[in-house]
Amino acid sequence: MASVKVAVRVRPMNRREKELEAKFIIQMEKSKTTITNLKIPEGGTGDTGRERTKTFTYDFSFYSADTKSPDYITQEMVFKTLGTDVVKSAFEGYNACVFAYGQTGSGKSYTMMGNSGDSGLIPRICEGLFSQINETTRWDEASFRTEVSYLEIYNERVRDLLRRKSSKTFNLRVREHPKEGPYVEDLSKHLVQNYGDVEELMDAGNINRTTAATGMNDVSSRSHAIFTIKFTQAKFDSEMPCETVSKIHLVDLAGSERADATGATGVRLKEGGNINKSLVTLGNVISALADLSQDAANPLAKKKQVFVPYRDSVLTWLLKDSLGGNSKTIMIATISPADVNYGETLSTLRYANRAKNIINKPTINEDANV
Ligand code: ADP
Ligand code: MG
Repeated sequence: MASVKVAVRVRPMNRREKELEAKFIIQMEKSKTTITNLKIPEGGTGDTGRERTKTFTYDFSFYSADTKSPDYITQEMVFKTLGTDVVKSAFEGYNACVFAYGQTGSGKSYTMMGNSGDSGLIPRICEGLFSQINETTRWDEASFRTEVSYLEIYNERVRDLLRRKSSKTFNLRVREHPKEGPYVEDLSKHLVQNYGDVEELMDAGNINRTTAATGMNDVSSRSHAIFTIKFTQAKFDSEMPCETVSKIHLVDLAGSERADATGATGVRLKEGGNINKSLVTLGNVISALADLSQDAANPLAKKKQVFVPYRDSVLTWLLKDSLGGNSKTIMIATISPADVNYGETLSTLRYANRAKNIINKPTINEDANV
C-alpha cells in the first residue's frame, strides 16, 4: 500500500501577468503551500467569513517562481526528488506513473518535457534508465529491453504520435487484455537501445503534437499526452531465470480549466467541446478513490458502495492501474503565482489535496516462468 505522492510547483510570473502588474499570491515553506486571496482584507475574513489565506500540505512544494532566488527549484532538483524514484521503481519491477495537472500555461509541459538545454522529467528519467542499465550490465548478467510509445488523447480519440505517415495513426481502439488490462490496439512500440534513440522519438512525437495543432485551436491545451516506457529485465535469481516488467506512464494532462464548463474564473466556456470528458472523469475517479480510502481508514464507518468510474473516459480507462491500482504514482500540480489566476490556482491546490488520499497497491511484476 502506498499513497499517491503529490507535489506542487509554482512557476515565475509570465509576460502577460507582469504587464497586468499582477500580484504574487503564493508562498511556500517546506512542504506547505499558502495562497492569499487579496480581495479579503488583512486581519479580517470579509463579509463572507472566508479566510484570506489557505494553507495546504503536500509531499513537496517546489518553489520555482524566481530563477534568481537561492530557493529556486531547478529541473534537476525536481528529477532528483521525484524522478530518481521512478527509475528505481523500474529496476525493482514496479509500475510507475507521473501526472502533471494544472491550468494551461502553468508549467506542465515544462515540468514533464522541458525545453532544449533545460530538460524535464521525461528525458531525465529515460537518461537515468540507460545510465543505470550501463552500470548494471557491466557487473551483472541481467539483460534489458526498453520499449517506448507516445500517444495523445484528443476529444476521446487516441492518436499515435510515433507512427509513420502511411499507417493508421488516428482514432485507435482501446481494448482490454484479460490479464494485462486496457491497452491501445495498433499503437506503435519502439525498441530503444540508448538515450539517443529515445531523444529522436521524443522529438518526432513532440513535433507531431504541435503540427497537428495548426488550424485547430490550441490542441495541446485540450489534449492529454502519454509517454509510456515498458522496461523488461531478465536475470537469474538463484540459478532460476526470472523476468520483471515495469510500465511507466508519464502524462501531460490537458489544461485543468477544461474540467469545468463554468470555470473557476467565472468565464463561461460555451462550446461543448471545451469540456474535457477525460479530465472531468479523472476528477470523479480521484474523488471516488479518496472516499474509498477514507472509508478504509475508519473501521467503524459503514462501508459505502463506492463506484470508481474508470470506464467513463479513455484517459482513466487506460491509466486504471495508475489510479488506485498496481503502480507507484506521483501527481505534480503546476500553478501560476499571480493573483489574476487565483480561482484556477485554488482549484488546482484543492484537486491536488484530494489526490493525496488515494492509496495504490504497487506490486513487483515478476514472472518466474520464462
Ligand atoms: P503548460 O504545459 O502547463 O500549458 P508550459 O509548460 O508550456 O505550460 O509553460 C508555460 C511557459 O512558462 C513556458 O514558456 C515555460 O518555459 C515557462 N515555465 C513553466 N514552468 C516554469 C518554471 N518552473 N521555471 C521557469 N519557466 C517555466
Ligand atoms: Mg503544455
